[in-house]
Amino acid sequence: MGKGYIMKSKGKPNGKKPAPEEKKLYLEPEYTKSRITDFEFKELVMLPREIDLNEWLASNTTTFFHHINLQYSTISEFCTGESCQTMAVCNTQYYWYDERGKKIKCTAPQYVDFVMSSVQKLVTDEDVFPTKYGKEFPNSFESLVKKICKYLFHVLAHIYSSHFKETLALELHGHLNTLYTHFILFIREFNLVDPKETTIMDDLTEVLCSSSGSSSNGSGNGSSNSAGAQNHVKER
Ligand SMILES: [Zn+2]
Repeated sequence: MGKGYIMKSKGKPNGKKPAPEEKKLYLEPEYTKSRITDFEFKELVMLPREIDLNEWLASNTTTFFHHINLQYSTISEFCTGESCQTMAVCNTQYYWYDERGKKIKCTAPQYVDFVMSSVQKLVTDEDVFPTKYGKEFPNSFESLVKKICKYLFHVLAHIYSSHFKETLALELHGHLNTLYTHFILFIREFNLVDPKETTIMDDLTEVLCSSSGSSSNGSGNGSSNSAGAQNHVKER
């Protein structure tokens, strides 16, 4: 049910209000409350004083890649060419672009496969994500990290919009919420993904990230971090 709601929009989120749609199960308070930890993620994502910024971005990005890959794998048997004929998130449809920039029409599982295999290639490429002491990060490092984060976001958003029911049935929604909160606070802290790109999930982000501490009363306004976050990044 619900598959008929996907409109054939272009890949870019356009900020237009979508037509009235199905109630979003993942916004139900009973589910958004569920986390596996009440840890203060805002502090966790901040660059520790003695650590190089690129090192920090590299290790976090790699870790998020593994966790998001794992989270997707829990529902991947339900994400098929039939159930998810396009890479849809709410009313937006994403397309993959090949190396030459050619648009490729693909199903959601194909899209996720493109994402995961290209990210895997990057994070294991010693020239892009160097692990050996003294090896420099390439100039393109930050823009590659941004690209990776954008695509990982699409995967997370797809799990929520198309596979939340299955995630619930597996009782993994607490993990998903925790991973999402941590990821969003990380990309915000370092301005890694254009806010326009994440607008599509703002309703959820607001609920999960404005009160990422132990208080479940969404009193924090969540917007105070973007300006302050710049300072300690620039220091280096
Ligand atoms: Zn799917």
